[in-house]
Amino acid sequence: MILVDAAYTALMRAITILGSTGSIGKNTLDVIRRNRDRYRVFALVAGQNVDELVSQILEFRPEVVVVATDEALSRLRQKLRDVGLPRPRWPQLAAGARARVEAAVAAGVAFVMSAIVGVAGLEATHAAVHESKTVGLANKELLVASGELLMSAAREHNAELIPVDSEHNGAHQCLRAGRPEEVSRLILTASGGPFWNTDIAELQDVTPEQALKHPTWKMGTRITLDSATLMNKGFEVIEACWLFGLHPSQVEVVIHPQSIVHAMVEYSDGSVLAQMSAPDMRMPIQYALMYPERKPSAVAPLRWDEFRKLEFYPPDHVKFPLLKLSYQAHKTGGSAPCTLNAADEVAVEAFLRGEISFPGIGEVVVETLDRVAVRRISSIGDVLEADELSRRVAREVVKIRGRNGVPSVLVAPAKAV
Ligand code: NDP
Repeated sequence: MILVDAAYTALMRAITILGSTGSIGKNTLDVIRRNRDRYRVFALVAGQNVDELVSQILEFRPEVVVVATDEALSRLRQKLRDVGLPRPRWPQLAAGARARVEAAVAAGVAFVMSAIVGVAGLEATHAAVHESKTVGLANKELLVASGELLMSAAREHNAELIPVDSEHNGAHQCLRAGRPEEVSRLILTASGGPFWNTDIAELQDVTPEQALKHPTWKMGTRITLDSATLMNKGFEVIEACWLFGLHPSQVEVVIHPQSIVHAMVEYSDGSVLAQMSAPDMRMPIQYALMYPERKPSAVAPLRWDEFRKLEFYPPDHVKFPLLKLSYQAHKTGGSAPCTLNAADEVAVEAFLRGEISFPGIGEVVVETLDRVAVRRISSIGDVLEADELSRRVAREVVKIRGRNGVPSVLVAPAKAV
């Protein structure tokens, strides 16, 4: 068990950042950098990027640093020697899943930012919730793949979950204005990604470079690609249902190319509250860290004289079928959303390697959902097993389909269990 130095606990909130080297992690550190009097970094947890980690160690002086593998750990040690940091000033160094959990549940840690991409952050975040920590939830996979488990653990252990995803964060803010039973609808906005205006026939030839050009947000690779297919918005619908206890029919998506309005809540009297801010993740990150307080932030205020219009359009479900599929997966329940997420991750990676086309991402997800039997999820072990099986099946589907895709009917769908 790792213990936080007593000095930490006195005045400052000790923070563990899961995924410190990623886009959310770096933005979280920027918020901390600007609020040094309130926060101290207790642990930095990352995957492989030891160059970034070393500069974070030098600047933030964490107690603990965890990487994904022993190989990354050796590189990290070497790099610390190379930069000449004296041994007594090194943080505790560790690698692997168990160390991630320890960094998240350490006594004295007040806030855990959950921003590891994929299922690698699952166990550590669940463990933090079981220890009644306040958790800033950026990672999507957690709620998509294990929403029921996470929410019931949060209720049981009285752990506060504060959404960091801008849409859910916006909803969290709007929902403070009324009572849960007064909410009739939640409207999530989507920028529409780079292709919302592109002809459906042209999607076949889209390249990874084009798909990675997000019009308004700067984010990690997977979420940027998922924004281009609207899968990301589908995940957000599932997340919103779990987080706010809403029925899927109460969660709507609208395309809003300016990305200024992040979410809107309609109350039973027809009044709609919208949360607006510049598209900069430091806004929701700071909100999550400081909740329920507010303080000036580094995000530039909106200039009402600079933009002329806020547009809203219905999503095109023919061009972007993954959005509807997420409603279905949530309705099916059990392991279906976990399979949705795993298949999408495999398909996105295959697209980035040039193995399937852009529309092929959706086709691989549909076919994987067809092939993997739905199971009950009652533990993290069940989630990880369903995830593993779904990835295996999705990889087979990618192999069979190839670059231009083979019609699903040619592939006999035997249900994997
Ligand atoms: P990035 O790809 O930028 O960063 C991912 C982070 O996860 C990195 O720190 C990476 O470490 C770490 N990581 C990956 N695998 C492992 C592993 N096995 N063990 C430990 N750490 C690992 O992603 P983002 O920051 O963009 O997104 C993080 C999460 O937040 C995702 O779930 C995303 O959907 C969600 N999110 C992101 C938003 C954004 O604006 N970026 C908005 C809303 C939600 P390393 O690089 O060192 O390998």
